[in-house]
Amino acid sequence: MDTRNAAMTTDFLGATQAARLVVRHGLTHCLQGLCDTIEADFARWPDFEKSARIAHHSSGGVIELMPVSDARDYAFKYVNGHPGNTARGLPTVMAFGALADVATGLPVLLCDLTLATALRTAATSALAARRLARPGCHTMALIGAGSQAEFQALAFTGLLGIERLRVFDIDAQAMHKLVDNLGHAGVTAQRITCCTSSAEALDGADIVTTATAAKRRACVIADADVRPGTHVNAVGGDCPGKTELPAALLQRARIFVEYTPQTRVEGEIQQLTADAPVTELWQVITGQAPGRTHDTEITLFDSVGFALEDYSALRYLHGLARDAGMLQPLDLVPALADPRDLYRLLRDAQQAERGFG
Ligand code: NAD
Repeated sequence: MDTRNAAMTTDFLGATQAARLVVRHGLTHCLQGLCDTIEADFARWPDFEKSARIAHHSSGGVIELMPVSDARDYAFKYVNGHPGNTARGLPTVMAFGALADVATGLPVLLCDLTLATALRTAATSALAARRLARPGCHTMALIGAGSQAEFQALAFTGLLGIERLRVFDIDAQAMHKLVDNLGHAGVTAQRITCCTSSAEALDGADIVTTATAAKRRACVIADADVRPGTHVNAVGGDCPGKTELPAALLQRARIFVEYTPQTRVEGEIQQLTADAPVTELWQVITGQAPGRTHDTEITLFDSVGFALEDYSALRYLHGLARDAGMLQPLDLVPALADPRDLYRLLRDAQQAERGFG
């Protein structure tokens, strides 16, 4: 006898369906939807119980758990970062997450978040740049043409009106892949310049996005190449001992972060003293702190990825997938006819096994 209560099934959205959902609605539409959702959730920052993510480091990378909750929903993401993975045929970043009902603890959604991590990261970058970059920016340098790169490029072209991309990756094949994929997404090759150095990529750039993946203290751009008024969107430095920017650049920039206790440990600002001034993005969104204050200021978004962005992504995807009828029911936790009779599960299973034999 199946004792499962239909109301207790968990929704499941796997990687293939998540990708189809994005295609069905359009990538730019989803980036915009995520950007709006993240902005709305950051605007109610005090509603959330927040903590820095819990990271387990190994020589090859890191595995992290990222929980956050408000009075209604609890969310977590599992995500790894293994820079050597691509040589093994695996992505650097893989992720999944869950939403649960705070009132009962019932898991309501289990969802691939690998694609969504790239989408929410790019949407958050665009959200920050909208507040921090100079108005009228038209050229972005993109350092690193790996998995995140297309999404960063499409968020900035689609949501911020960036017209020209100047790309540099130490691997020429990665740049070819990026140009090919962006062509598929409607950004013509004429709008993209593949460069032979980061200095060449930064020449004339209004915005610089760094999204490289070496687990070390790297300097993927030189301080001298960043002109006054630039907005720097630093995405790749997101782990202790893993940074992308020269300390001299941090010292002359106004720095914006997601959640200070986490970014102090993981972000570019791990290179600075623990009291170096930073502004949290939610303060700018709610008008409690200024964003850019003048045209020659260098603004720097020290992005590391915060759990609230995944909470927003989970809820946004759940709604889209529900409306599209793309959720599958998942037998994740037992539904019991008598909630105090867990043993009944074994008796039912025994009966099913006998029937099977
Ligand atoms: P990836 O491995 O797919 O791509 C990284 C690219 O950087 C590669 O093509 C590599 O050749 C290139 N590269 C390495 N060193 C370089 C250098 N000195 N100059 C130019 N190019 C260089 O990684 P990915 O999935 O695109 O992720 C990029 C980074 O973003 C990772 O460090 C990842 O941890 C980080 N990330 C951050 C967030 C966030 O929220 N901030 C979210 C997702 C990923």
